[in-house]
Amino acid sequence: MRTREIAEELRPDLVALRRELHQIPELGLHLPLTQRRVLDALADLDLEITTGEGLSSVVAVLRGHAPSPAGREDRRPVVLLRGDMDGLPVTEELEHLDYRSGHHGQMHACGHDLHTAALVGAARILDRLRDQLAGDVVLMFQPAEEGPGGAEPMLAEGLLGAAGRPVEAAYAMHVSSSEYPLRQWFSCPGPIMAAADTVHIEVTGRGGHGSQPHFSLDPVPVLCEIVLALQTMLSRSFDPFDTVVLTVGRIAGGTKDNIIGDTADLSATLRTFSPETRTLALANIERVAHHVAAAHGQTARMWTTEAYPATINDRAEYDLARQVVEDLFGTDQYADRPAPEMGSEDMSFVMNEVPGAYFFVSACPAEDYVNAPTNHSPRAEFDDVVVPDAAAWYAEVALRRTAQG
Ligand SMILES: [Zn+2]
Repeated sequence: MRTREIAEELRPDLVALRRELHQIPELGLHLPLTQRRVLDALADLDLEITTGEGLSSVVAVLRGHAPSPAGREDRRPVVLLRGDMDGLPVTEELEHLDYRSGHHGQMHACGHDLHTAALVGAARILDRLRDQLAGDVVLMFQPAEEGPGGAEPMLAEGLLGAAGRPVEAAYAMHVSSSEYPLRQWFSCPGPIMAAADTVHIEVTGRGGHGSQPHFSLDPVPVLCEIVLALQTMLSRSFDPFDTVVLTVGRIAGGTKDNIIGDTADLSATLRTFSPETRTLALANIERVAHHVAAAHGQTARMWTTEAYPATINDRAEYDLARQVVEDLFGTDQYADRPAPEMGSEDMSFVMNEVPGAYFFVSACPAEDYVNAPTNHSPRAEFDDVVVPDAAAWYAEVALRRTAQG
């Protein structure tokens, strides 16, 4: 297939770009060095480029030259391809890499450097195949996937209207440093990534001396009781086939062994798939916290931050994206996941607006992929052999979806 052939020709350049990006990981909404590198890599192509106002995003529109699909002469299809660009606050422990991070305490530990290079590759492939592209492609280079979220502000800045006509379908891919053998693609129809909400609870009692608890209202045991009550509530209130996970990852209170503080607080992550379950879980958490605290004459306050909805694969877009994997790489290079991932993704904001598909590909260089360090580990390693594969996948998906109308 032409997309794959061109991707192979581009291999040295794409791998070099990925390794450059790997050395300059940046965090959050502002990625000036990464954005500069992406703009340079696209500079010689005929694209309509806009950069973000409130974040260092890049949106590039590539226009196809093929005739419109039958019956679509007046309204050529527009599809969106997304690559996220941000790194993580992780200190890299891959001493053997000659292209390791040059930014101390920051690392491309989730492989977004591969996504960025692959999306640049897709732009270059599609540029060469404009005569076969029966629509327009919006290339979405996104910051802050790892928080606080870049997709939502990009949508607010007009992402889906960038081509002048609305985007009809959206696709994204993610590399994995473990779990599946190198170059294996995987996904599943329907929910693929969970919704994530960060939940905070603060219990307020009344501080005092540790030797005289009867003159105080100690919030620490009350908060501990809330942690346990929440797990009981979840296991008794929800359908076991409609997954809910709540992990209290942080709990804090007090300053010294013999001082009872006024307050104690926790932060937890809530993962769900259905919007109804998510709403109900949040309401139940608040109710349990409030009433457990009240039982001890104290008060509890709950609030949430950093909420990403669930990522749901549209059946038709999933079928198309999977067919592309099988045609490009062979049917044995695709496997349906037995269950969705409990991780979360802000591509979900885009896929809430337009139907789309989200796929994974293993970039695990180790033979023992089961025990290899996972994404986000300081030892997570990603083999950039998959960068041209992903570039070909993005490009082929865009070609087929626009041809289909
Ligand atoms: Zn990631």
